[in-house]
Amino acid sequence: MQTPKLRVGLGYDNHRLAPGRRFMLGGVEVPAEVGAEAHSDGDVVIHALVDALLGAVGAGDIGTHFPDTDPQWKDQASRLFLERSAELVRGKGYNLANLDVVILLEKVKLGEHKARIVSSLRAILAPWFELPEDAVSVKAKTHERCDAVGEGKAVAAQVVVLLTGTAD
Ligand code: MG
Repeated sequence: MQTPKLRVGLGYDNHRLAPGRRFMLGGVEVPAEVGAEAHSDGDVVIHALVDALLGAVGAGDIGTHFPDTDPQWKDQASRLFLERSAELVRGKGYNLANLDVVILLEKVKLGEHKARIVSSLRAILAPWFELPEDAVSVKAKTHERCDAVGEGKAVAAQVVVLLTGTAD
């Protein structure tokens, strides 16, 4: 029996938090008194997901595709990075089987926003991937008051993806 064509990808991102910034997570604006400091909109979920997708197909990382030294990406909505990466993955002959997200965040409680983030990610990815109902998972946890994340000074996200080769 032929082994199915499978690829796994892992992504991680973090950003400092500061007052007066919109707080974007997975394409959703979360109401908070702080937001991520970044060249783009600082969406750690999308940045980690982009790195997971690019890593799974050996296509470098977010910094090589969308360098923060390039003014065209300044204050850019990160969903554009995700759309471009999804198109690249699909173009290389892979489908997205599932993705699993962990958001590390101390003071801002995500609660019902997790479901909004799931819906947002599904919607952004829909043009390229037919995702089963249970294929997008978003979890959140605190950092137990340890380090910058635990002191509420930063947000981080980890994402893992599984890709399957498309039959063509
Ligand atoms: Mg980032």
